[in-house]
Amino acid sequence: MTAAAPTAPIVRFAPSPTGRLHVGNARIALVNWLFAKSLGGVFMLRHDDTDADREVHDAINAIEADLKWLGLDWGQRVQQSDRQDAYDKAIETLKASGRLYPCFETAEELSLKRKVQLAAGKPPVYDRAAQALTPADIEALKAEGRTPHWRFQLEGGRVGWADLVHGDMDLDAGALSDPVLVREDGTPLYTLTSVVDDLEFGVTHVIRGEDHIANTVPQIQLFQALGGDPPGFAHMALLTGPNGESLSKRLGSASVESFRNKGFEAVALTSLLARLGTSDPVEPRADLEDVVAGFDIARFGRSPTKLDPADLEILNPKVLHGTPFAAVSDRLQDAIGEMATEAFWEMARPNLNVLSDVSGWANVVTGPMAPVIEDSEFATKAAELLPPDPWSDETWPAWTGAIKAATGAKGRDLFHPLRLALTGQEKGPEMKKLLPLIGRDRVAARLAGETA
Ligand code: GLU
Repeated sequence: MTAAAPTAPIVRFAPSPTGRLHVGNARIALVNWLFAKSLGGVFMLRHDDTDADREVHDAINAIEADLKWLGLDWGQRVQQSDRQDAYDKAIETLKASGRLYPCFETAEELSLKRKVQLAAGKPPVYDRAAQALTPADIEALKAEGRTPHWRFQLEGGRVGWADLVHGDMDLDAGALSDPVLVREDGTPLYTLTSVVDDLEFGVTHVIRGEDHIANTVPQIQLFQALGGDPPGFAHMALLTGPNGESLSKRLGSASVESFRNKGFEAVALTSLLARLGTSDPVEPRADLEDVVAGFDIARFGRSPTKLDPADLEILNPKVLHGTPFAAVSDRLQDAIGEMATEAFWEMARPNLNVLSDVSGWANVVTGPMAPVIEDSEFATKAAELLPPDPWSDETWPAWTGAIKAATGAKGRDLFHPLRLALTGQEKGPEMKKLLPLIGRDRVAARLAGETA
């Protein structure tokens, strides 16, 4: 007998459109994406937007632009603001089964209750006072003009799940307040909408930050109350700054956009984010497919994980050095126009920290550039020995061989003055690759001390 094929996972990334994509959230999106890709599943994008005003619309566009830049394409896209009917239906189901009950306390009354409980040394759990209201009480409150919010009655007892990151979890539902699922104005809250969508779209695994662990207990009970099976769960440890400080969602410097603006390659960021929190080494990857290889969610640990931008500064040049021309030609063209040839890329890429550094090397090639001539006699001799066109990778060794034979200069004494004269810089790309790009006329002019 053959074993049943494992079902391909369906996962979702569910950002709340409150601003640009934060790097901590980008990591959650990436882990979901990698999980789906590595198992032949579907990565779904679900915007947890409750209303669709202009600001939300802009945030959704910005989040999608950031996800695309990272290379995280989605198989399906949903907006919660389009799904009110489904939430209304679920609300009716829960009311009909008696799990949703109306409550009339104001925010002030609830806050007072909590203070009294805390002062008495009790946990600030909602006391279900609203369940003691008789139908007549409820009518009287409504007649006063009060509208209820609705709470979901939790079943007491332990709720457990096998978390893909945290292992076996077992929490006491009795220690939690019945969550509010519907506001006074009738709009549903995240705890409910998320479960309704996860059920409808057949989400098999909910992978999210560990700040949502407390939501998992009511949500598991909600899946069951709505007639479904809870999915699998993975709660990722939090990402912090280099000193363990929280990466606040509002912190501009921790947005994906800010990393892009600093010139970091998307795949440098994904190479790092995919391995942070595992004991696997962070290695530069050529592309996302390469990041998928070796991905296993079980390798993530439970401790908070630090993101140090200094690691990106080390990783980014390594990623660029391994990037083939075909993968970069469009962006190279945008940066330096018609100079964006494969020969230019081969010359420049070992010398880049960020891609925009190509402009500096393009300027060295085309000039005008003031040469540094330390010994004009040597420079004149070198100019006399310049080989005729056409030039290639062979020209530099042939030319420097002839200069060595004529002057006796060798090693640094031979190469250093030539580099200074031709580039104005102490170090840089391989001269044999740079020389044919600069070309004979400019080389001759620079050796003569002219700005060219
Ligand atoms: N919108 C929620 C958030 O951004 C989604 C949480 C979840 O994945 O269930 O935190």
